[in-house]
Amino acid sequence: MGSPLKWKMEDMIERLVKIQKENEEDKKETVSSEESITITKNATVKKPKTCKICKCKFQPYNSLQIVCSSKCALSHIDSNKRKEHNKKIKAFKENDKKYLLKKAEEIVNKYVRLRDKDKPCISCGYIGDKRQFHAGHYKPKGRNSALRFNEQNIHKQCSICNNHLSGNLVRYREGLIKKIGLLAVSNLECNNETKKWSVEELKAIIKEYKLKIKELDWHNG
Ligand SMILES: [Zn+2]
Ligand SMILES: [Zn+2]
Repeated sequence: MGSPLKWKMEDMIERLVKIQKENEEDKKETVSSEESITITKNATVKKPKTCKICKCKFQPYNSLQIVCSSKCALSHIDSNKRKEHNKKIKAFKENDKKYLLKKAEEIVNKYVRLRDKDKPCISCGYIGDKRQFHAGHYKPKGRNSALRFNEQNIHKQCSICNNHLSGNLVRYREGLIKKIGLLAVSNLECNNETKKWSVEELKAIIKEYKLKIKELDWHNG
């Protein structure tokens, strides 16, 4: 596509060719089948359409016209370009590990908050509504990447314990033993694996936890 002016010229020529072709085809049509009747009718009696861009009513020159004017045709091309661009961004995000890590974490955290909806803060036992609740990791996710999405390692925690008391870990441990048992806590403590999450694994986690959230939502009514 060149400049808008050039494009308009090309568009006009294209329109003229189209109209001419349609006219020729109309002449060729015989009233031998139902189909040809409809084709002929559509070509001669054109119902007014609503412009895709400005929403005004207009008389189309043929059945393919979806915008009222060349001005709206240009905006329509712009909006198509935008859609194309957004598609590309989406495709990129879907394969970008940094983005997927963030997304997976968001979804797992959301699941944990939902799972622990009626539970108190794992560290201090707070249960009111004056504090925000986070999904707090027992073993920090940065140094223990293998436990990053391990449900046993993530529990509902109040913002004061999570942000201001650096996880309030001594009390976290007490709460965790009560909740999942000493053996499970010891297993977490022994696990010092690092893990490089692949794009496929992250996508699988996102999918799995979206489903789990749906199930919990369903159970909670
Ligand atoms: Zn328009
Ligand atoms: Zn707390």
